[in-house]
Formats: sequence, C-alpha cells, structure tokens
Amino acid sequence: MNYDVIIIGAGNGGLSAAATLAMKGKKLLVLERHNIPGGCGTSFRRGRFEFEVALHQLNAMGSEDSPGALRKLFREYGIENQIDWIEINSLFKVNLPNDMSVVLPANREESEAVLIEKFPEEKQAILDYFKVVYQLSKERAGFTQYMSNPVKNQKEDITKMFPSFFKYGLKTTQEVLNDFFDSTELQLCLSPYWCFMGMSPDRFPFLILAGCTYSYIEEKPYYLRGGSQVMSQALTEVIRKNDGEIKFNCGVKRIILENNKAVGVIDDNGAEYKCKKIISNISPINTYYNLLDSSEIPIQAKEYLKGYTIGISAFSLFIGLDCTPSEVGFTDSFNLIYDDLDVNEEFKYSHTLLPEFDPLVATCYTIDDPKVSPPGTTVVSAGVLKYGDPWMELSPEKYYDTKYKAADIVLNRLETRFPGIRDHIEEIEVATPLTYMRYLDHPGGAIYGYEQDVKSSTLFLPKQEFIENLSFASGWVNSCGFAPNYLYGNGVAMKVLREV
Ligand SMILES: Cc1cc2nc3c(=O)[nH]c(=O)nc-3n(C[C@H](O)[C@H](O)[C@H](O)COP(=O)(O)OP(=O)(O)OC[C@H]3O[C@@H](n4cnc5c(N)ncnc54)[C@H](O)[C@@H]3O)c2cc1C
Repeated sequence: MNYDVIIIGAGNGGLSAAATLAMKGKKLLVLERHNIPGGCGTSFRRGRFEFEVALHQLNAMGSEDSPGALRKLFREYGIENQIDWIEINSLFKVNLPNDMSVVLPANREESEAVLIEKFPEEKQAILDYFKVVYQLSKERAGFTQYMSNPVKNQKEDITKMFPSFFKYGLKTTQEVLNDFFDSTELQLCLSPYWCFMGMSPDRFPFLILAGCTYSYIEEKPYYLRGGSQVMSQALTEVIRKNDGEIKFNCGVKRIILENNKAVGVIDDNGAEYKCKKIISNISPINTYYNLLDSSEIPIQAKEYLKGYTIGISAFSLFIGLDCTPSEVGFTDSFNLIYDDLDVNEEFKYSHTLLPEFDPLVATCYTIDDPKVSPPGTTVVSAGVLKYGDPWMELSPEKYYDTKYKAADIVLNRLETRFPGIRDHIEEIEVATPLTYMRYLDHPGGAIYGYEQDVKSSTLFLPKQEFIENLSFASGWVNSCGFAPNYLYGNGVAMKVLREV
C-alpha cells in the first residue's frame, strides 16, 4: 500500500497534521496504538461519570468575532460549530496557606483591581508588571515574524526593535517576579501557569508565563461540552470525510529506511506500508530508539537529544462526587493549592513518591459545565506533578500499596480545603506516572514532553530533524499543550505539503 504521508500517533499534533493533509487531497494513513483517537486528549468512563484525561483550559480560542489561532484552524476544518464551546470567566483560584485565596478574572483590568485590593502597597508594580506581560507577548510575536523573514542589511539594532523581548526573553519566572514584587503571596497569584509546563517558577521561562497570561486573558480560557475527546473525534471525522485512513489498535513497530531515507512503516501486525513522508506524533526518543535499528539511528540525533531532559509526569485522582460543587466548597474550576509559600522548595518533592507537600491542582469541571455529569453530581480531577523515575523502581506489590497510600494523602489534603469531599466520593480512579506511560507510551510517563526550562524551550525547542522524509509533530518538539500542538501539527503538514 502506497501513501503520500503516514502519521504515527493520533494525538493532537498527529490529528491536526492528518486533517490538514487530508483536506488538501493527500493520500494519508494515521496509525494509532490505542483504540481511540486523542492521546492525552481523551476521556474514560467509570460508573455514571466520564472523566477528562488532560484538558483543564484551552487557549488560543478567542471569540467568534475575534477568533484566536485555534478557533480559526477549527473553522477551516469545518468543526468550529460542531462543538459546544464554554468560555471560562476566571483564570484560576490560588489557595494559599492561612486560608487566603485569590481568584483572578479573565480580564486585565479586573485582575489588576483584584490584586491591587489585596496587595495595595504593590499597586504600581502590579500595573507595571501587566504592561511588561503585554509588551513582551506582542514583541515575541513580532520577533518570530521578523526572524521568519529577516531584513537583509538591517540598519536598526534588533535589540532596540524588541527591547522587552531581549530584556526578559531568557529570564526565569522567579527572577522577574522578584524584580517586581516583595510579597511572595502576590508572586504565587501571578505564576500558576508554571504547572502547565511542569517547571517550578525558578526554572519556568518568563516568556511562557507572559504568553499564557496574555493569551488566556485576551482570548479567554475555554472548555468544551463532552471534553477533549470531542475534539479528537471531530478531527477523526474530518480525516475520514476527506478520504484519509485512520487505524486504531495498530501501532507502528518499525520505520523502513532505504538509503537513509524514510520510505515506509511496519505496523504491530507486520503489515508494511510505503509512503513519501512520515510525520511522527510520538517522542523522538521512541521514534529513533524503538522504531529504528540501533545502527540506523543517526549519531547526530543521539548527540542532539542528549541536550534535552525527559519531563515530568503526574499523579492524578479522577473523582466523581454524589453532591453539588457548592456542598464541598468548590467555587472556581481551576484551583492551585499551596500548603507552603516556598513553591520552588515544595516542587523538589516532585522527585519523591508521596504527594505530601507538593503544590496541588484541583479542577472542578462541573463549575464550567454543570452538564458534565448527572444532575446533583460533580466531577473533579486533582493531583500533583511527579517524575516517573521513583515509580519505575517499585516492585509490583509496592506499586499498588504506594499508589493507594498516595491517593489517600491527596484526599486528606483535599479534605482540609473542601470539607466533606471524602464522604461524597461515588467513583474514583487513580493514575500514576506508570499509567501515563502505559496509555501514551511516553518515556518516563512524561505528560509535557521534554523539560521546558529557559535553555530548552521557546527559542531552543528540539525541532531538528535528522532523517530525510521523517518529520515530528508533538509536544516533544514543540511547547506542550492542546492549542500549541494542534497548531504545530497543522504547520508541519503545510511544510510537508510543499515537499510532497
Ligand atoms: C494530565 C494532563 C494534563 C494536561 N493539562 C493540559 C491543559 O490543561 N492544557 C493544555 O493545553 N495541555 C494540557 N496537557 C498537555 C497536552 O495534553 C499535551 O501537550 C498534548 O495533548 C500532546 O499532544 P501530542 O500531539 O504530543 O500527542 P500525545 O497526546 O502525546 O499522543 C501521542 C499518540 O501517539 C500514540 N502512540 C504512541 N506510540 C505509538 C506507536 N508506536 N504507534 C502508533 N501510535 C503511537 C499514543 O497512543 C498517543 O495517542 C495535559 C496533559 C496531561 C497528560
């Protein structure tokens, strides 16, 4: 069987790349190991509850009249109106020690006002900070555009064209927050997006924090009725309607090379498919090391990847409650819970097994979508970020003990913030880094790809390719996240289109 393009994996990047290519009339095949599309963008059922695996907040949507990049892409695919979008009014609720909590609205002026009311002595710093966040995000877009087509013999000093970008582009979140603010509590109220990348503020690139803050305020956080599985399904339909093929329960076990060029794949059942181009939606590590013979792996690829570190995974509880959110005290969907003010110190526990001290994230989906589960019930996902290594070292017996001990600890910690939650549990499922490893097949169970600190993100993402006709589209070679990977998959498809 001959195809123009074969795509390995039906995660966000794989699906959007496939949808774009199918709509442009390319003969294409998607091979997916799992029995459903979406990768992280999936859901599963327990009893009368359907649990979202990954999505908390979608960015780059914008409104119908002023669409963001993702809404525009879904419009091109013809699926914008098939999906029931839910705009979220608040960015997040930060729950600090000593019962202090702050909710930031998804509006710049309102957020500034909330923070000034709580921290009046830092009023000017708050206003200056938001100015920098906005300026930096605009300059970043301008810089990217400029670099894609730089002016030859440019007279003007580029550092003067993009001053904020050059001042803040390589700083960590903690460095910038320390420059602006005295109050640690205030710093914590402005930095929650560190958990979307799994990097504590002392390593989290400020450029990404600024970008997230700008994008979620200007284009609003979104969720969708039915959860991310609905987007995955809609994209699958686009592929099929445009005569693309997609096979589930059908992983790729081998990439075929001829004269060092990728020319096809072999699936788990031994079937062989030929193609002009391959797009891998899985990690470069698994692509090179699992799908090629060791003698075929380019030495440059091995050296190149040594510079990147496998990222963090998660320990998560998926909880169905037999009560309403208000009965246990949920007022906002996305909650970050700190039991200590030193987030950088607390984050070090991510290298240990038990979630006793790690910052806790709890998302109550019912707040944004009361129809997410039967009337009078509530869906919550709660957990901490954890590296996979200590979990991989456990024996099978110890694994189960540790898993349920860790779940008990998270529930105890939730109970102090949301009293009564334990008594209202109707369904509960627990995911460890090994669960993410099993379902996604990512090294270390990484949920955000490689670590994305200042030296390995935004400007230095591991995008380089080493085998002719083999491209990558995934959270491993791009900023992680839903919108970034749908958009990136589309971009890779456009590049492949020019080549095929
Ligand atoms: C718990 C959690 C919470 C998250 N929260 C958010 C959030 O709120 N907002 C946000 O924007 N992002 C969030 N993310 C991150 C986001 O989900 C990911 O960055 C993004 O979905 C990754 O997409 P991807 O294109 O890299 O594909 P992946 O989702 O990594 O999918 C890869 C696919 O490849 C398949 N595969 C693997 N090996 C093979 C093989 N050999 N052959 C064929 N198929 C194979 C897998 O089965 C999988 O379907 C979260 C992720 C997780 C897990």
